[in-house]
Amino acid sequence: MRRIAVFPGSFDPVTKGHESIVNRALELFDELIIAIGDNPDKKTLFTPEQRLKWLKQVFGDYKKVKIEKYQSLTVNFCQLQKANYILRGLRTASDFDFERNISLMNKSLAPEIETVFLLALPEYSALSSSIVRDIYINKGNIKKFMPDKIKF
Ligand code: ADP
Repeated sequence: MRRIAVFPGSFDPVTKGHESIVNRALELFDELIIAIGDNPDKKTLFTPEQRLKWLKQVFGDYKKVKIEKYQSLTVNFCQLQKANYILRGLRTASDFDFERNISLMNKSLAPEIETVFLLALPEYSALSSSIVRDIYINKGNIKKFMPDKIKF
C-alpha cells in the first residue's frame, strides 16, 4: 500500500519550521500532499493564492510532493486524495493539547486515517506563522524565518 500523507495547515505564511517537517516526513511517505485549508471563517493575512505560490516556490520541484487547497473537512479531503495519514508538527505542550483533540475527533470520523506527529527541531520550536505575521505587520524583516527559496 502506498503511504500517502496530507500535511494540512494555514501556511500563513510558510516558514522554515514547515519546511523542516516536510523534509523529514519525506523519508516516511511515498507521497506528501501539502494542503492549504482555505477556511473562509478563519482570518488570514496572506491570500490563499499567495500562500500557494510560496509553497510552490519551495516544494514545486519535489517529486513526492503535491500542493493543494481544500475547503472541506480535513478527513474528507484525505479520503478524496486516498491519503491514509495526516501529518502534523508539535512544538509545545499547548500544540499537543490542541492537536490531541483534533486527532481524536478525526480518528472518530475516519478510523482508517492515522495522524503522525513530528516533534519540531529545537531551532524551530519558537517559530510560528503567527509570529512571522506580527513581524511583517510591524514592518520587520521576515526573510530569515521563511524558506531560502522564497522570492519576495
Ligand atoms: P494550522 O492553522 O492548521 O495550525 P499552521 O500553518 O500554523 O496551520 O501549521 C501547520 C502545521 O505545521 C501544524 O501541525 C503546526 O504544528 C506545524 N508547524 C508550524 N510551525 C512549525 C514549526 N516551527 N516547527 C514544526 N512544526 C510546525
